Amino acid sequence: MFRDTTEQYHQSHHTLQAFTSLLTLVEALSTITEQGESTSHTEAENAPPITLSAAGKSFAEIAQQVLDCSYVAVIALDPPDERQRLLGSSGLSEKEAQILHEDTDQTPMAQYVHENVITQLHNDQVAEMDLKLQPFLATSSTHGARFRLVAPMTLHGQLIGIFTMAKIDKGYHNVQSAYTPEERALAKGIARLATQVIERVRLLQERAEAKVKTQKLQEATRRYEDCLSTASHELRTPLTTIKGNLQLSQRRITALVKRSEQTPETLAALQRVENPLREALQNFGRLERMISELLDYSRIQADKFLLRKQPWNMVEIVRSAVEEAHKAMDERPLLFTAPVQKEILIYADKDRISDVIHNYLTNAHKYSPIKLPIEVSLSVEDTLARVAVRDEGAGIEPAEQERIWERFYRVPGIEVVEQSLSDSNLGLGLYLCQEIIELHHGRVGVQSTPGQGSTFWFTLPLASTSPSSPQQG
Ligand code: ADP
Repeated sequence: MFRDTTEQYHQSHHTLQAFTSLLTLVEALSTITEQGESTSHTEAENAPPITLSAAGKSFAEIAQQVLDCSYVAVIALDPPDERQRLLGSSGLSEKEAQILHEDTDQTPMAQYVHENVITQLHNDQVAEMDLKLQPFLATSSTHGARFRLVAPMTLHGQLIGIFTMAKIDKGYHNVQSAYTPEERALAKGIARLATQVIERVRLLQERAEAKVKTQKLQEATRRYEDCLSTASHELRTPLTTIKGNLQLSQRRITALVKRSEQTPETLAALQRVENPLREALQNFGRLERMISELLDYSRIQADKFLLRKQPWNMVEIVRSAVEEAHKAMDERPLLFTAPVQKEILIYADKDRISDVIHNYLTNAHKYSPIKLPIEVSLSVEDTLARVAVRDEGAGIEPAEQERIWERFYRVPGIEVVEQSLSDSNLGLGLYLCQEIIELHHGRVGVQSTPGQGSTFWFTLPLASTSPSSPQQG
């Protein structure tokens, strides 16, 4: 009876001790990973995350403090052959730690411990080892500690590492008497905690790496956009000069052709110069369009895209955009369904809204055969003016209908059918349209069925309801 009570007392004392040790360990653990965790925009956010070996070393030190043993080690097992990587040890002299490192590092676990031990670890069990009876396979260095407990570090069913504690053989006859059941349970619990710490550190490192990658990408994009902006600015001046000179040469040649005294040979020679000059000038339209789209794009990126808003009659804006398109697309049937209202007032940058209509019309022209009509309509729906441009071209797959508004996006497989002289084909047009309309508090969209054409539309608030109109303050 007396004996029983003493044993019970010892047992509950051991359990309490083990429980207290685990608690102490859990409390201490928070200090290991908090270095890489930051929630505020402080310097800590830019601090590099703790390394795996630093975390392993801190963990081993804390674990050894709560365990009654001569040393502990935390070892990661790397695929494909469970190659050991010493993450940290505690309780060994510097030299012993070095030997342990040399013995274990980069050695597959199967070359180091017996296969029975490995099987136990794979079954998520703690293995006991008496190094006198079951020495290491690869080395006999015990660092004076004969009795070992090896606990598995298992994550999602995978053995990712081991936690080892070692006791010297003084006073113990065998490995069973060296470790109490509480110590075995404690070793298993500690190995689980080690797994969590290692996994957490790994995730923190991954997060930090992803952050560095994103920063590098943002930096590269910024440099690319700066370069684009500078290039388009720098190109504008020489292009204006070239265009001016081409126009001047064209005028002079036209004047020479008109002179009556020219011989037929001279006239033929002048025409040979005149034709390429005209072509060069025609292609200038495309070049100018590209430069102006790139400039608008870089202004938007730099938040320097300025609008000059005034009250305008939308009927006039649409009508004159259609008339201009009519001149440029001579053979194309172009229909305009005017609204019943003579005046639809909007508060807008007229040139920018004309650019949007021009872009919708040029696309409708580019992506549908010349014989098929394009229809433009303007209507009032509730408090909105709505413009729609319908073509009978190839249409756009539903999955692509979202993406066409992205900058530089062009749908693979949609070919230009009719090249316009003033179009860029950079994949920027619809992106700019969307930006312009949204800056006017409107919306853009497309309805399309592949094989049956597309209707591109946008809406704008009427002047009296526009959030930015003077009437509304
Ligand atoms: P792009 O300069 O290439 O025309 P946009 O931004 O204007 O650039 O258009 C993006 C892409 O959307 C085009 O490359 C084309 O694939 C598709 N697209 C635009 N308008 C039409 C249309 N009316 N019919 C079919 N596809 C179109």
